[in-house]
Amino acid sequence: MNFGNVIDHAARETPDSWAVGDPERRITYAELSAASNAAANLLAARGVEPGERVAICLRNQIPFLTAYLGSMKHGAVPVPVNTRFNDEQVRYVLETSDSSVLVTDETLESVAADVETAITIDGSIGHDFRTLLEEAADTYTVCPRRSDETAAVVYSSGTTGRPKGVRHTHGNIIANARGIRSYHRLTRDDIGLTVSQCFHVTGLNVTTTPLLLAGAENFLLPEWDPVSVAETIEARDVTYTFLTPNMVRDLIADDDVEDYDFSSLERVVVGGAPMPTGQLDDAEAVLDATVLEGYGMTETTPLAAFNRPDTDVRKPGSVGPPAREVVDLRIEDIDTGQRVDRGERGELLWRGDTVTPGFERQQRDTEAFVERDGTRWFRSGDIGYLDDDGHLFVVGRRGDMFTVGCANVFPREIEEVLYEVDGVTGAAIIDVLDDRQGAVITAIVTRNSNVSEARIREVCRARLGEHEVPEQIEFVDDIPRTATGKIDRVALGDMFGTLSS
Ligand code: ATP
Ligand code: MG
Repeated sequence: MNFGNVIDHAARETPDSWAVGDPERRITYAELSAASNAAANLLAARGVEPGERVAICLRNQIPFLTAYLGSMKHGAVPVPVNTRFNDEQVRYVLETSDSSVLVTDETLESVAADVETAITIDGSIGHDFRTLLEEAADTYTVCPRRSDETAAVVYSSGTTGRPKGVRHTHGNIIANARGIRSYHRLTRDDIGLTVSQCFHVTGLNVTTTPLLLAGAENFLLPEWDPVSVAETIEARDVTYTFLTPNMVRDLIADDDVEDYDFSSLERVVVGGAPMPTGQLDDAEAVLDATVLEGYGMTETTPLAAFNRPDTDVRKPGSVGPPAREVVDLRIEDIDTGQRVDRGERGELLWRGDTVTPGFERQQRDTEAFVERDGTRWFRSGDIGYLDDDGHLFVVGRRGDMFTVGCANVFPREIEEVLYEVDGVTGAAIIDVLDDRQGAVITAIVTRNSNVSEARIREVCRARLGEHEVPEQIEFVDDIPRTATGKIDRVALGDMFGTLSS
C-alpha cells in the first residue's frame, strides 16, 4: 500500500477538514490531496521515474508536505534534507541518495545550479514550484507500491559520524503511524503542532504522518521559538505535539511563556535525546499536559518504546515499555552477543514492522544488522535494560561509554545527578585526555545561580561511585547540541581537549 493513499482516503471522508497549516495559510484534506496530485503530475512531466530520489530541502511549511506526498504518490522516493546543512553537506546527501531532483528555496542557490532538476518554492532558481503546481492537473492515479518498497529516505542525525540515509518502506511508515495514532488515541478532532523539523524522523513521523493517518489537522511551525510555540498552542487549540528535551528546557526557562493558555494541550511526546528525569514534572506543570517520553531512532521510523498515556505506570527515567505491537527487542551482551538476563544491561537490538530494511548505498549495513537465531536484527548502539515490569531504561550510547579502572561509565548517568544540583541548568560529561593523568572525567555545566564547584562535588560524591565523580568542572554559557538536541560531544571534545576515546 502506498502511504500517499492515506491523504486521498481522508480527502474522500472529510474533504473540508483542515489538514495542514503554516504561518501563511491552511489547507483542507481535499486541497492537500489535489496539491500533492499536482506535484506527482509535475514530477511525471519532468521524466522522473518511480523509484527515483527527490530531495526536499525545506523548513516546516506546506510546500514540504506537498512535495513529500506528491513524490510518494508518483512512486518516487522523497529525501528530506536538513535545512541547516551547508552546501557541502547537502551535496553529500544528494550524492549518497542519488537524487536527481531538488526541491528547495533561495538558500541553496549554488547547489541547485548543479542538479538535474531544481525546483524552488519562490522561483529563485530553476523552476517555480507554485507555478508548476498551478499548471499541473490535480488528479492522479496513485502508483501502486508494495509495503516492502522504499517510500522515503530519511537521514539520521549524524551524532556518531556522517548522517546515514535510512530507507523507510511504505510498510514502515504505516506501521509507525498506526502505532502512534493508537497509543496517543489521535482522532480527526486532534490538532497537532509540528515544530521539530520534518527533515528529521521526529517532525515527520511522530507528529506529521500519524496526524495525517488520523485525518487530523497539523500546524507546521518553520522556526523554533518558545513564544511562537506558546502562541500557536493557545491560538490554534493544539492538543498534541512532540518536543525534544532541549525545547522543553527552553520553554520552562522562558518567563514569557507563562502568560499563555495551554489548556487545550493534552499530550506532549518528548524524545530524540535523553530527558533529565527531574524535568518531567516541571514540564507537565508549565505545559498543563501529560508529558510522555518516547525512544526511537531514524532506523525504527522511529517507534520503538513509548510511555503510554492510558496507564498510570510512568516511571521517571524510563522511556516506557517497548512497542510490542510493532517491534521485538533483544538485549544482548556487547562482548558475547548472548541475551542478558532481565535487569541486566546490554545493547538494544530491534526487529519488526517499523525497522528499516537498510541504509542508502548500504552505508554501514554490515555493522548495523546482525543475524541472531535465524533472523535479522538492527543494532542500535544504545545500551539499556528492562526492569521487572518490562519498562525500558536507556543508559547511554555504546560509543559514549568510557572505562575508568575496570568500570564502565556512562556520561548520561553522571549528567542525571548533575541536574539534581539546584541551579544547574545543563550538564554534559566528557572524558578528556590529560597528559599527566590520562582520561579525566570532565563536567561541562550551565547554571542559573551561583552554584559552586564544591556543591556539585558534594552531590556527586553522595550519589555516585568514587570513580564517577567528575575531576574537572567547567562552567560555560551554552552546551553545544546537535540539531536534534543531543549533546554534541565531538564539539565539546574540540573545545576542552582531545577525547580519550
Ligand atoms: P547517527 O545514527 O547518525 O549517529 P543519531 O543516532 O543521533 O545519529 P537519530 O536517529 O536522530 O540519530 O537518533 C536516535 C538516537 O537518539 C537513539 O539511538 C538514542 O541514542 C537517542 N534517543 C532517542 N530518544 C531517546 C530517549 N528518549 N532517551 C535517550 N536516548 C534517546
Ligand atoms: Mg543512530
